[in-house]
Amino acid sequence: MNVTVIGGGLMGSGIGQVAAQAGLNVTIIDVSEASLEKAQNRITDSVDRLAQKNKITNREDVLSKLTFSSQWDSVSQADVIIEAVPERLELKKDTFKKLDQLAKDDCLLATNTSSLSITKIASVTTRPEKVIGMHFFSPVPMMPLLELVKGYKTSVETYEFAREVGEKLGKRMITAEKDYPGFLMNRIWLPMVNEACFAVMEGVGTPEEIDQGFIDGYGHTMGPLKTIDMAGIDTALWAMEALYEGFNDPKYRPCPLLKKMVEAGDLGRKTGRGFYTYR
Ligand code: NAD
Repeated sequence: MNVTVIGGGLMGSGIGQVAAQAGLNVTIIDVSEASLEKAQNRITDSVDRLAQKNKITNREDVLSKLTFSSQWDSVSQADVIIEAVPERLELKKDTFKKLDQLAKDDCLLATNTSSLSITKIASVTTRPEKVIGMHFFSPVPMMPLLELVKGYKTSVETYEFAREVGEKLGKRMITAEKDYPGFLMNRIWLPMVNEACFAVMEGVGTPEEIDQGFIDGYGHTMGPLKTIDMAGIDTALWAMEALYEGFNDPKYRPCPLLKKMVEAGDLGRKTGRGFYTYR
């Protein structure tokens, strides 16, 4: 099975790695050569760590399954395409218009969006029944969950094909039967994180205290603020905006501190600074 991943950032590189570990042929496409290089290094480091822990024994095979490219040649050969470009609707629409022109008729077109409408993204293609949400969780090689999201026109065949792919990737799946903003997971999780940002903004507590509270009080392995530092403050803000716009409900208004941090370029771990500072 040939898999093409569009966007080789945090999520795209993780998805590509997991697909390669499952023995699939993977091409990761990105507009940025720097991102491609980073993706390759990130995957090699991660595969090396797994090999050192004896969690995989075929390091060379896994790495040989991966191709990194700034060209779209692999798209026409792909059986499955998973899009993981930044969380901007217009960018996703442009990407799917292009995929619609180049991909095989029977290709599965999946988006890893965390909150945008699958139906809107699918609507720019001539085959909305082939489009589905495959929402992975970060870090993809570690997190077992895959949330499948049915768009308004997603067919039963497409859903079953996506399940088959998820099984090959070794994921445990849940399904959002309907395409409402945030689907199942982020609709519940993001407002909680947003509220944690309000608590910091209002000086009720520090990120350290809030995160510690979630670890010691609720048994989470990582607190909400460290988690969005990892996910990207920009990604979290865009996802929160999608909830706000999608439901037209003020309870989803993004915290101004999140906006300020994005304006200042403090995007979390990827820029070295978010709620915490990283070396
Ligand atoms: P990221 O910024 O780390 O990576 C995005 C990549 O896409 C970058 O490498 C960028 O160069 C590339 N890109 C931009 N425009 C492109 C184009 N036109 N064609 C090809 N590549 C392009 O972002 P991410 O965190 O990997 O998020 C990607 C998607 O995954 C978003 O939709 C996000 O909401 C979703 N998601 C993110 C997380 C998370 O924890 N970060 C979790 C689940 C889902």
